Amino acid sequence: MSKSKLLDAQKKLLDWYEVHGRKELPWRNTEDVYSIYVSEIMLQQTQVKRVMEEYYPQFLLKFPSLLALSQASLEEVFGMWSGLGYYRRAKNLHQSAILSRDGLPKDLESLQKLPGIGKYTASALCSFAYNQKVSVVDTNIARVLARYFGVENVKETHLWELAELFLNSSAPKAHNLALMDLGAMVCLPKNPSCTLNDSQEMPLGCQCPFIESCKGANNPLKYYKTKSKVYENKTLHFGICIQDGKIAMKTSTEGMYKDMLKLPDIEKYHHETNLIGSFKHSVTRYRLEVHVYTADSVEEDVLWLPLEMLPNAPISSMTQKALKLSKAILHD
Ligand code: SF4
Repeated sequence: MSKSKLLDAQKKLLDWYEVHGRKELPWRNTEDVYSIYVSEIMLQQTQVKRVMEEYYPQFLLKFPSLLALSQASLEEVFGMWSGLGYYRRAKNLHQSAILSRDGLPKDLESLQKLPGIGKYTASALCSFAYNQKVSVVDTNIARVLARYFGVENVKETHLWELAELFLNSSAPKAHNLALMDLGAMVCLPKNPSCTLNDSQEMPLGCQCPFIESCKGANNPLKYYKTKSKVYENKTLHFGICIQDGKIAMKTSTEGMYKDMLKLPDIEKYHHETNLIGSFKHSVTRYRLEVHVYTADSVEEDVLWLPLEMLPNAPISSMTQKALKLSKAILHD
């Protein structure tokens, strides 16, 4: 790509961002690296709207600094993360806070030594918080770059090279944010704006600034396809056992719910008549069918949690659903 074409594309991108970019997002209106770090971790597997409305402000209110987070117990952190899923993120966040309570490192290499911080998150922090001249590649940016440069089956290392080549060194932070928004709003996985015809209504901000220079504009889906997920089915049986105002819970010792509280497993054939209800739940690659029963007794190594402590306990959204199903019993 010639220098003049590159400069033209960079300028068009920034002009588009100036008008249509999501500049109102709270983590874009701060240079506090801790707040940006929290947002980046929350946004890894969760929609922007949900993070912004239900978790981000509440989390920062409870743990306003890295130091405050480092002084909290893991249970308290899980409590604030409750329902957000992928609890390993919260555990890594807490662990990183303990390891760097006086301040997060300021370079790519040191940041990546902290738990849960990979190349993307380290680059995002260097760019968005420290305003350094570094490129950033997330899934949205990857899609734009692969299509813009017309690269099929693009490898990750090549994407980082393209991002580096394309980086606007005069305004690296705005450039990265603009590319991210372009991928999230315009260069969509299935319906990028260049495939919309005149009869289709084009949402606000959908005119792509790269329409004239993008190599993939004639056949964008050829350059970046969304991989279809392979799911595994599982059936789970949980028991609700309440004694003297306390509910039997177990601490998960492995997997993504490690250290979270869950209901005790229960053998179905002993308790079929005690079925309270069933529901389906999807999490990561699992499609779960969950059955919940009343149980008169459970194994001995359970934790007896006072019912009033349930709302702030570190429990997953699946356990929350099971408890919701058992609402009448819990309020007896
Ligand atoms: S022209 Fe189409 S494929 Fe190219 S960046 Fe824009 S929306 Fe994506």
